[in-house]
Amino acid sequence: METNEPCSLNVDLHVKYFNRCTSLMPQDYTSLDTSRLMLAYFALSGLDLLGAVDKVVSPENKKHWIEWIYAQQIHPDERPELKDQSLGRCGFRGSPFMGAPHDPHACSTPFTAYDASHVTMSYTALLTLIILGDDLSRVDRAAVAAGIKALQLPSGSFVDSLGNEEHDLRFVFSACAVSFLIRDWSGIDQDRIVEHILASQAFDGGFGRGPANEAHGGITYCALASLALMGRLDALDASSKKRCLEWCLFRQSSGFQGRPAKIPDTCYSFWVGASLHILGYYHLVDTKRDQEFLKTTETVWGGFGKYPGLPPDIMHSYLGLAAMALNGAHGVHGLHSSLNISAPTFERIKSQVVWWRDE
Ligand SMILES: [Zn+2]
Repeated sequence: METNEPCSLNVDLHVKYFNRCTSLMPQDYTSLDTSRLMLAYFALSGLDLLGAVDKVVSPENKKHWIEWIYAQQIHPDERPELKDQSLGRCGFRGSPFMGAPHDPHACSTPFTAYDASHVTMSYTALLTLIILGDDLSRVDRAAVAAGIKALQLPSGSFVDSLGNEEHDLRFVFSACAVSFLIRDWSGIDQDRIVEHILASQAFDGGFGRGPANEAHGGITYCALASLALMGRLDALDASSKKRCLEWCLFRQSSGFQGRPAKIPDTCYSFWVGASLHILGYYHLVDTKRDQEFLKTTETVWGGFGKYPGLPPDIMHSYLGLAAMALNGAHGVHGLHSSLNISAPTFERIKSQVVWWRDE
């Protein structure tokens, strides 16, 4: 019988999967050691979407996580002659892969060649601290803003880390999310970002990594979420918005594909679904078919694989769950789509985070 009842998730199984990821991950993830903070965000934000952080992460473990994340913060060099030039390195690194000593209460970081923050690690560090109940009072806000500022290019785009050359809208999004969370936009030139985003809309309506690049579901999310966080969605004129809306809607077959002529992939139910949510047209998604596709990538170990039949991986597991949050499945909280955090935790920011609470 046809039914429009939202599907239910096996919450216990997913909680076990994400909880397992907080303590032990398969060897294949070793190469992602420099991005360990992002993996922690996927696991803990997954538990948060399932409403399980307080159930499975003990107060003592929460404290350990918070201390470990603060130990990844790169502060200015305390030597006066080096302080200014060290600001561009400030923010969060993904892990202590440079061999930095564990010091969560550090106020300065001695210069180590090649040690620099990564803008996406700063974004995931702040969100994970918030999920764990921290008020961000030990974040060096001015240094984080200065670190972001050093990453913006004259085009408006951002590199990921000081000294790197790779740049695209993924890092623009991370810079906007960090600025939004610390309530300090002094690190970025918003007008140049808006111009750059508008110039990155491809001929078919989606957004590419930069001007004249092929449109892509993940990048389209980054473009729209950046505009939403800056409060600049109205920079998209009616024609651009319509073309983007059509591009996103045409990505759905059962689940969503990331580009034309590709097969559906779990993560694009989030990237493209959240894009439609930001545009205000998520109601045009066939949520039943999307849920049916996601049920085929949900695994017996908990979590989601990229395609049906594949084992779970932490990124697709988190984004699959976030997509289920968007499409109203039972057992998962709602989602704040442009920050990619549970709706209840987003609400908590206003009373929990020091700059939101006191200003
Ligand atoms: Zn994917």
